[in-house]
Amino acid sequence: MTAASLTKLEQDCLAAAEDFSANTLAPNVMAWEAAHSAPREMFQAAGDAGLLGLLVSPDQGGMGVSYVALLTILEALAKVDMAATFALIVHNNHARAIAVSGSDHLTDTYLADMIAGRTVGAFLLTEPQGGSDAAAISTTAIEDGDDYIINGAKAWISNTPTADILNVFAQTEPGAKARGILSIQVPADAPGVTRLPAYEMMGGYAIGAGGFEFRDVRVSKSQLMLPVGKGFQAAMGGIDIARAGVAAMCAGMLRAGLDVAMPHLLKRQAFGAPLADQQGLMWTLADVATDMEATRLLAFNSAELIDNGESAVEAAAHAKKFATRAAFKGLNACMQAMGADGLKQEFPFARHLAAAKMAEYLDGTTEIQNLVISRALKKAYAS
Ligand SMILES: Cc1cc2nc3c(=O)[nH]c(=O)nc-3n(C[C@H](O)[C@H](O)[C@H](O)COP(=O)(O)OP(=O)(O)OC[C@H]3O[C@@H](n4cnc5c(N)ncnc54)[C@H](O)[C@@H]3O)c2cc1C
Repeated sequence: MTAASLTKLEQDCLAAAEDFSANTLAPNVMAWEAAHSAPREMFQAAGDAGLLGLLVSPDQGGMGVSYVALLTILEALAKVDMAATFALIVHNNHARAIAVSGSDHLTDTYLADMIAGRTVGAFLLTEPQGGSDAAAISTTAIEDGDDYIINGAKAWISNTPTADILNVFAQTEPGAKARGILSIQVPADAPGVTRLPAYEMMGGYAIGAGGFEFRDVRVSKSQLMLPVGKGFQAAMGGIDIARAGVAAMCAGMLRAGLDVAMPHLLKRQAFGAPLADQQGLMWTLADVATDMEATRLLAFNSAELIDNGESAVEAAAHAKKFATRAAFKGLNACMQAMGADGLKQEFPFARHLAAAKMAEYLDGTTEIQNLVISRALKKAYAS
């Protein structure tokens, strides 16, 4: 994918993302890591750069870029920091969901502030009991007159420290699984909502992973976004592009690995020649370059399918599975080629390697991608 195939507006968004990477992410990520903090100011800066309404149509105040263009942007951002990139895409997806599925009340209340970065969104599906079996959520939403009463807990939620508005998935009929799930917009400061501290974890603090508890939280039915039975379907509806997005982020991190390792190998001398002349070493980086190209092709193929209105279920599962493995292996190879210097914090290897591991869990683990691929194989070969 080259920038030439993007529209002028998409090229402008990509340029804004590259500028944001260089001038907002790069100078700050290490400070955010050191402070173990998720940066609220990052959202304001992203809003100012026009990077928060990427998936909202222009008539609703956004940019309305294609999914292919979105992936170029995610690649450019994740080259510097994947955790921050994921925090921003969660917010973008939330704004898109409100724009596409929200009532006039929800779009009027939330959209402009989200696109400007004045309020931050979060997607609350996963629970402390588990994430892979998402239809088994046990947070309840029980009708009470004009309201729903919400009880339960959510875990591993990106943007926990910064979120103002929560896209909560809840069960209306315990045991009904997907059939009973709705999604509702809950202000993070509503009475009965407890914001839990973000986890101390590997993978990047800018993602702000943490949890929420809900105790008898009363929310007006006007905050309902997807009615009973439609919530789960909608949550899964965006999963293919989310998986392709994670794959694009992995491609960005692999590019960062090569960008650091290659100049080092060309310059550093050993046994009377630059390290880049050592064929064995260079071949490990040649493999990284091949895996990066394959990652990009799989990711952009998925995005193209989605842009064309075709199914990308299997394609996105392949992309995400391949990309996360390639990122972990490839970043390790780039770091190895640096020698001990690769350990220094001035280089991004430790952060990117941890993020590559994190990527294996986001939007469905590697095993869940294999479930999707196995299902497709069985269907294709069933007599
Ligand atoms: C940094 C980070 C940010 C996240 N952000 C969000 C967010 O914003 N919102 C949100 O809702 N969630 C979020 N998640 C949660 C993420 O979607 C879950 O971690 C993921 O779905 C896996 O769920 P789990 O961690 O509970 O693992 P579990 O479901 O407990 O699985 C444990 C292990 O068992 C394997 N496994 C499970 N079922 C099967 C099976 N049938 N066959 C084979 N193996 C299986 C899994 O692959 C995994 O290796 C985030 C996670 C991380 C790490």
